[in-house]
Amino acid sequence: MSTFSFPDARAMVESRVLALRAAPAVETVPLLEAAHRVLAAPIVADRDYPPLARSIRDGFAVQASSLPGTLDVIGEVRAGGAFAGSVGAGQAVEIMTGAPVPQGADQVVMVEHTDRAGTRVSTSRPAKPGEFINPQAAEAAAGAAVVAAGTRLTFAGIAMLATTGHATVPVYARPTVAILATGDEIVPVDATPRPFEIRNSNAQSLAVQVARRGGLPRVLPVARDDFSHTRELVEEGLRSDLLLLSGGVSAGKYDLVEQVLAELGAEFYFDRVLIQPGQPLVFGRARGKFFFGLPGNPASTMVTFEIFARAAVELLGGQAESPLILPHARLTRPFRHQPGLTRFLPALLDADGGRITPIPWQGSSDVPSLARANAFLAADPDQPAWEAGDWIRFLPL
Ligand code: AMP
Ligand code: MG
Repeated sequence: MSTFSFPDARAMVESRVLALRAAPAVETVPLLEAAHRVLAAPIVADRDYPPLARSIRDGFAVQASSLPGTLDVIGEVRAGGAFAGSVGAGQAVEIMTGAPVPQGADQVVMVEHTDRAGTRVSTSRPAKPGEFINPQAAEAAAGAAVVAAGTRLTFAGIAMLATTGHATVPVYARPTVAILATGDEIVPVDATPRPFEIRNSNAQSLAVQVARRGGLPRVLPVARDDFSHTRELVEEGLRSDLLLLSGGVSAGKYDLVEQVLAELGAEFYFDRVLIQPGQPLVFGRARGKFFFGLPGNPASTMVTFEIFARAAVELLGGQAESPLILPHARLTRPFRHQPGLTRFLPALLDADGGRITPIPWQGSSDVPSLARANAFLAADPDQPAWEAGDWIRFLPL
């Protein structure tokens, strides 16, 4: 069917979901419960920020034209107060950080740059009108947009909502995400597997990945490699806002996921991406819901969620956009790969965050190596080799 490069596949996920998503429901929650949720209405400044010109240093508020010189200290103003009078030529008002700048003053001289003797203060600082003053409305004018709808609220966003007096916040409902692992060899986590069986780790890692991006995971029972059982569970999964399948999308005799979805009338946008791990990867829509058929090897499932399905979870949750940020780090050792595919490999990022080392591994079923990693190297498809010290992109975990 259709094979896409990594960037094209990602752009396809974003454009399809943005074009076809339904507007999520809106709920109003207390301020602290809005953390990590997606804001459903734009927030505007309820007044000027700052509401008055404020000092950003401890020191003396003066007329710039009096500098340098020796000035009369006529009073004091601190944060939480206001100076009733006005500062004239040759005068100074002692001022604390955050206090409103008195009338007449247009510069603040830092206390470190002054000599105080009784009611006189002298400084050699030159005139610099505006220095150490944060003017009224410099941060935001009353009525200006300060947080856009569709923003996932960080602690700084919560601070902005607190600043503007929002004790409750409209946020989008979290999207429900069905998680359906497939495979006759997959047994529940609390089972004792026979030698040819594997515990279902993918449903667990996906549930964590979904929840971290604001979705409500709904883990379904494992689908046997049997057409009607898989179909029954896929139909159930399509009742959620998004369906994530793991396994059953390769070319094997018992890889039934695509057939089942086709029989349910699915539209397929791609079913192969030039990445490793994760080449066989299905993205489409059936019964009005998006689905991903993620390859079953644990590393493939994890990586393909992060680079593709995550965007669908976030956009269905009302986020205005879902950029994939792959920062750069310097390799601690040479690295080479076979060009043609964007390749993701488990890696360790140094504590200083600037250096990265690939972790030796046995391939995409190697969960012990994945559990040691804190990042995946992302090797570009058109570069065969890197030297120690070269920059390479990575996917943070
Ligand atoms: P598949 O994509 O169905 O061919 O699965 C590839 C391999 O991934 C299987 O042989 C299993 O080793 C592994 N696998 C599939 N599903 C899971 C799962 N839910 N949890 C852990 N490993 C899985
Ligand atoms: Mg399978």
